[in-house]
Amino acid sequence: MTSPASGARSAADLPEYAPIPRSALGPALNEQGYYVGRVERNLYWVTDGVYQSAFLTTPDGVVLFDAPPSIGGNLRRAVDEIAAANGVTNTVTHLVYSHHHADHAGASSLFDRDVVRVGHEETRRLLLRDNDPARPVPEITFADRYTLELGGERAELAWHGPNHSPDNIYIHFPGHDTLMLIDVVNAGWVPIYNLNLSEDVPGYMAAPATALAYPWTHFICGHLGRLATRDDVAVHQAYIADIEASAKQALATVDPVPAYMHYGENAWAGVKAHLDTVTERAAAPIIAKYTGVLAAADIEIFTTTTTFLIMQSLRLDRGPSGPVHP
Ligand SMILES: [Zn+2]
Repeated sequence: MTSPASGARSAADLPEYAPIPRSALGPALNEQGYYVGRVERNLYWVTDGVYQSAFLTTPDGVVLFDAPPSIGGNLRRAVDEIAAANGVTNTVTHLVYSHHHADHAGASSLFDRDVVRVGHEETRRLLLRDNDPARPVPEITFADRYTLELGGERAELAWHGPNHSPDNIYIHFPGHDTLMLIDVVNAGWVPIYNLNLSEDVPGYMAAPATALAYPWTHFICGHLGRLATRDDVAVHQAYIADIEASAKQALATVDPVPAYMHYGENAWAGVKAHLDTVTERAAAPIIAKYTGVLAAADIEIFTTTTTFLIMQSLRLDRGPSGPVHP
């Protein structure tokens, strides 16, 4: 097997995986490579099959929510298509950032002229730090809550603490029965590496319950090809809860002593052997249980790395990290 560091694998070396269930996939893309559909009334979502964005058309302008670079110029095409079909303005007046990450905001500069950008105050701080011309900083910022009103429509933005990123916000559309929360739940699919590359493990684990506390029927999760439902969030919660329970059990039952005895003064080799054993024992039943339930559950490294992070959070955030020396 070729390691990633030594270059791309040839197609013949690529592993094969279980087929993706049709229920995890979304609508077909058009010739330009996107799909735009109505979420409810004048709220629309756009996908390229991997990333998602949303926009609200109003008599006073269009509000865009995220600008993933993979959708890029197709955001403009999607807005134009819907505005023309409904006879409303296609002028994008506002762009809301869900969080600062470039993969969801990197097409922001395509909408440069006269667009008012809105985001959490931490999003502004992080974008000032990152200094990326593709992601201009938001002019309107907030600490806890902000109500965006335009042309008689409303989006309620709220920050409930760090989760996937320090600045990731909840975007509720009370008039559209919809919640948008990016990079936490993937509709019908497992999270990728390390809880979807998340920074705050307890915050990430608690976020789905916060999302479910809002009233909504439609959920815009930011990734893959379809919208999510409350059932999708519940399946994700069960997957994470099963990993937590399995990690707890593995921590309690794997005896670390033989690994440390074996490696003697190489303490780090002992740590690796111990924690790898715990991770593998904890992850194996989860991978077996969710293969066929969540798409890509058989890409073992996703569940393994997520299990490692949850197991570390159980030790380091909740404690104890280990027995107290007598
Ligand atoms: Zn992100």
